[in-house]
Amino acid sequence: MFDWLVVGAGFAGSVLAERLATQRGERVLLIDRRPHIGGNAYDRYNEQGLLIHEYGPHIFHTNSDMVLDHLSQFTTWRPYTHRVLGSVDGRLVPIPINRTTVNRLYGLSLETEEEMETWLAARAEPVERIETSEDVVVSKVGRELYEKFFRGYTRKQWGLDPSELDKSVTARVPTRTDTDDRYFADKHQVMPEHGYTRMFQAMVAHPNITVMLQADYRQIRDLIPHRRVIYTGQIDEFFDFRFGRLPYRSLRFEHRTIDAPRHQDVAVVNYPQTEEFTRVTEYKYLTGQEHPKTAITYEYPTADGDPYYPVPRPENQERYGLYEALARATPDVWFVGRLATYRYYNMDQVVGQALATFRRIDEKLPRGGDTGSGSKAWNGVRAVVAAQP
Ligand code: FAD
Ligand code: UDP
Repeated sequence: MFDWLVVGAGFAGSVLAERLATQRGERVLLIDRRPHIGGNAYDRYNEQGLLIHEYGPHIFHTNSDMVLDHLSQFTTWRPYTHRVLGSVDGRLVPIPINRTTVNRLYGLSLETEEEMETWLAARAEPVERIETSEDVVVSKVGRELYEKFFRGYTRKQWGLDPSELDKSVTARVPTRTDTDDRYFADKHQVMPEHGYTRMFQAMVAHPNITVMLQADYRQIRDLIPHRRVIYTGQIDEFFDFRFGRLPYRSLRFEHRTIDAPRHQDVAVVNYPQTEEFTRVTEYKYLTGQEHPKTAITYEYPTADGDPYYPVPRPENQERYGLYEALARATPDVWFVGRLATYRYYNMDQVVGQALATFRRIDEKLPRGGDTGSGSKAWNGVRAVVAAQP
């Protein structure tokens, strides 16, 4: 009998499995339908020995000392400051838009933050209520820069116009009046020194944790006895799409190895105006690996495929609300992570959410002794065993 069946071995599932095993001494079965742990942060060495991210570039950044300290139990780090260039009007310019971006694109020499503010203010369009991903950009930088940097990229990435998406999506990318060309402004910007997969291996290496891969929740939920569930997959799938499907945006990753030590000037180049892919990532910048060749990935957005992004817009949030209410009324199952709580979370936010969930579990359930109401699983197993010839 397992105390916990944890569904999904990404950040949400692995962080919780470790806490439950080490802090409460409980027995955990951690499953994933994929053939590996790490969820979307999984990385691996390709045929040429280059470390790549199977599901696109994952850059760790956080303002939370607590989250960083927690993960530091399982990895050492290498400092890495992420920089992105955009291919705009045939030039490569810094993204997020900063003073250098504007100077380069328009042949200007704005020298102070005040000059840049005045320049932007002359272009910004007043928007009464900032609700959509179009509003948030147009109200800051005006329509021309919006179209150059955001409209095309967003339409490719989401298959929707920015006016159809919640403001939180493009608000992830700030506008700067200085020349700071870092993609993220967080206090901590680091990469796990030996990769994410090694970090996950260290996290789940505990005698109380059994890892089972290529195992789907549906296949094993009635086969393997367990008291409680942590579920980190799609919430609509858990409830058999009872209220219809929640859209999740997908990507097709094209991984390539180039027979040269360098491919581009920074880790990521975005293509907001041209191409079918959104961005190209060169991993050596992230990993610090030295190698005569270099590995890159093209990201092609798609409607079908593995669920990577919840799609933040009001009607989806409303539908999620129906599922969330069902989740609340489902005893002994905790829903955690990007897919199960339908939130466009970064890795550190998922770790924070998982740690907060652990604290709630620990407050609610006395350590040892409580058996939960999951004994149905026992009956399921008995039924299956009894049905064998
Ligand atoms: P996941 O990593 O999706 O893990 C869920 C796991 O559950 C999956 O492995 C899945 O196979 C498994 N599962 C689902 N259903 C079942 C089932 N029924 N049975 C068994 N297993 C199941 N974040 C950052 O902080 N920085 C970045 O630079 C960054 N870049 C990103 C780039 C891309 C292209 C994408 C898609 C995401 C990026 N993220 C980034 C976000 C990051 O991937 C997520 O925040 C994080 O991985 C979410 O962890 P999770 O455990 O919630 O979900
Ligand atoms: N975005 C854009 N142009 C860019 C970069 C981002 O329009 O050059 C928009 C786009 O809608 C994207 C969102 O901002 O989906 C968030 O960007 P981020 O880089 O955070 O996306 P992620 O890394 O999560 O895919």
